[in-house]
Amino acid sequence: MAPARISAMGWVLAASLALALVACTAGDPEPPRPSAQVSDPTEPPSEALPTTSPERPAGVKPADFRPVIALAAVRHLAGTIGPREASGPAYERAAGWVGRRFERLGLTVQHQRVDVPAGTSWGVAVPAGRSVNVIAVPPGFVADQPHLVVGAHLDTVPQAPGAEDNASGIGVMLAVAEATALRRTRLPVVFVAFGAEEPRGETDADHHYGSRTYVRSLPAGERAAIKGMLSLDRVGVGGVVSVGSARDGLDRAADQVEQAAEAAGVPFVREDNRSSDHWQFVLAGMPGVRLGSTPYAGYHSPQDVPEVIEPDQLERTGRLVLAWLRPG
Ligand SMILES: [Zn+2]
Repeated sequence: MAPARISAMGWVLAASLALALVACTAGDPEPPRPSAQVSDPTEPPSEALPTTSPERPAGVKPADFRPVIALAAVRHLAGTIGPREASGPAYERAAGWVGRRFERLGLTVQHQRVDVPAGTSWGVAVPAGRSVNVIAVPPGFVADQPHLVVGAHLDTVPQAPGAEDNASGIGVMLAVAEATALRRTRLPVVFVAFGAEEPRGETDADHHYGSRTYVRSLPAGERAAIKGMLSLDRVGVGGVVSVGSARDGLDRAADQVEQAAEAAGVPFVREDNRSSDHWQFVLAGMPGVRLGSTPYAGYHSPQDVPEVIEPDQLERTGRLVLAWLRPG
């Protein structure tokens, strides 16, 4: 538990409870607990976890990424749940599912309320309402000590089931969380499934509500403790991983991500990008980089279904993230 973070971020326990209740009645199959031998289509069978000693667990490495975990999440979110507009019941169901996945990895999960205005999302009217960020921290986490953030947005535009945009990012994040659960990383990692990334209007103020809420909730000391943030957004189509820099000129954070890609043997292309949740971190002075956004014309359409996802691209992205997290 991390009392300092909980008080600083203003957790809404009632919202968390409501989500749990909604999720429990929505008919989602529950992943098995680690000791249970239960077949469940939303969670691939566990492989043997790394041999660790209590004193010094193994350091995580790129080969620890399991794309089957990411692919199962894509199928569940985009295939079973479907479109997840940020303020709607399907989003709540998805948020409850993601939160339970984190909890089963031993992470402490909180739901942070995100208010969203009425607007127009990719041509469809959307109401004012509430979304949530699902935030997962490791055991013993201290919010004002150096750490990293790996995030992905969980919402979709109203008309799209969102396999590429962005069940792909959520899936890679969950697989990274699994790979790091019992292994060492170079710094503690906070995972965030952001609500309401998709636009509800035309300007730079009309999207990224979840990440903006998260960043605004952080006191100065906690912002200074974030040594790097990756936003995984559209990471399941293509043959190279886009490393998206939001800064003009020198961007040491993006340089570091490129070095991780090279170390992992992952092909990449450096691009300018301010259109995902990393932008809110950069605006507030923190190091943030996007992974993803290779061209896929159907990403905001009903055609964004699990069949468009290429497991090899999920694996490229996941291996890059684990190289970025690898202890020195
Ligand atoms: Zn997206």
